[in-house]
Amino acid sequence: MSDTLSLISRWVDENRDHCIDFFQQIINIPSPSGEEHQVAEHIASKMNEYGYNTAKVDKLGDVMGTIKGTGGGRSFLLNGHIDHVPVGDMVDPYSGKLMDGAAFGDKGKVLYGRAACDMKGAVAAMVLAGRALNELGIKLKGDYRVTGVALEEVGGAGTKSTIVDSQFLADVVLIGEATNMELALGHRGSIKFDVIVHGRSCHASAPERGINALYKAMKMITKIKEELAPSLPVHPVFGKASLVVTQIEVSPEASNVVPETCHFVIDCRNHPDFTDHHLYEALNKIITDLKQTDPEFTATVIPGTIINERRFNGFYTDPEKTPVVDEAVKAITEAYRVPEKKIWTFATDGRIYAHLGIPVIGFGPGEEKYAHTQMDHVRIDDFIGTIKVYAWLACQICGVA
Ligand SMILES: [Zn+2]
Repeated sequence: MSDTLSLISRWVDENRDHCIDFFQQIINIPSPSGEEHQVAEHIASKMNEYGYNTAKVDKLGDVMGTIKGTGGGRSFLLNGHIDHVPVGDMVDPYSGKLMDGAAFGDKGKVLYGRAACDMKGAVAAMVLAGRALNELGIKLKGDYRVTGVALEEVGGAGTKSTIVDSQFLADVVLIGEATNMELALGHRGSIKFDVIVHGRSCHASAPERGINALYKAMKMITKIKEELAPSLPVHPVFGKASLVVTQIEVSPEASNVVPETCHFVIDCRNHPDFTDHHLYEALNKIITDLKQTDPEFTATVIPGTIINERRFNGFYTDPEKTPVVDEAVKAITEAYRVPEKKIWTFATDGRIYAHLGIPVIGFGPGEEKYAHTQMDHVRIDDFIGTIKVYAWLACQICGVA
């Protein structure tokens, strides 16, 4: 182990309780999407206390902190979101209490609370890795930058604002969304399509006089679920595309009227072998097939577009073309253990940087399967390991002066 890594590792172990305490503090402050200012201000004040050269909060509630490099190295930006999904029926969602992981079928001590794995554990680790470097007097050549962004769970406006309004960018970006301590290199794209099924309304007391758009939509939804979704292609890098109906509404909205239209929304996670064009064709084929047996069936497919933000592409940081992947594997192996290379199931703000041509890697504590659930938690050992990984990655990417 190099001297610098031993120093980092020892500092993190000696300050273990302080690190857990900071993680708990940011869990204790509720920050559902759109209400991130308080937690952002708290993180900014801690960045100042921990010796960051700059720390600011923008108007959306994004917090950005920088430790200036001495010059001549690559800058490294760590991005995590500080907003979270609603707490639902979670018990003590903002407690941040330490528990035995057995309660969730997990091993070891865990920190529980809304946003623990998605993703305040990673955000806390990013801020604390900077603190470790500062307190150890380790000077980096390139800038070390951390942003805790707002509004990720509702579309990514926070990250976009840090880029457009604050030019908060770097040569290499790390996204801390849960990878369960493996190395994530990308994810599928997302397309949202609207389908409007047409009928003819009438008085609900005599449904035979009309054409019930809701009943017609059921036929199409059944085909989507039972025929189209299972048949989606598998891509060698991204895996299988997925597709699900997520929202439905009828018009007019009246309990005594047979609806004349039924509008439903499809969420498709796709890859280069299943584009928006393929989805459009597949849905129209279902409509054509249904018309053959039911002449009254009519429906319109409205594709999502990039312009209305109902479509975005995934990304993949190819290890063959991007040397930073091998550097990350080496650093993670030295600071923690050999990571597997993987693809996230969900989408992340990493796509926004990747589409600008910046290499993006992903590493974070917690498991995807606990995100947005009542079992939101992070293993303490993984949280502690993540601080070491981030600090050591920074030394490798930015260079030690
Ligand atoms: Zn997340």
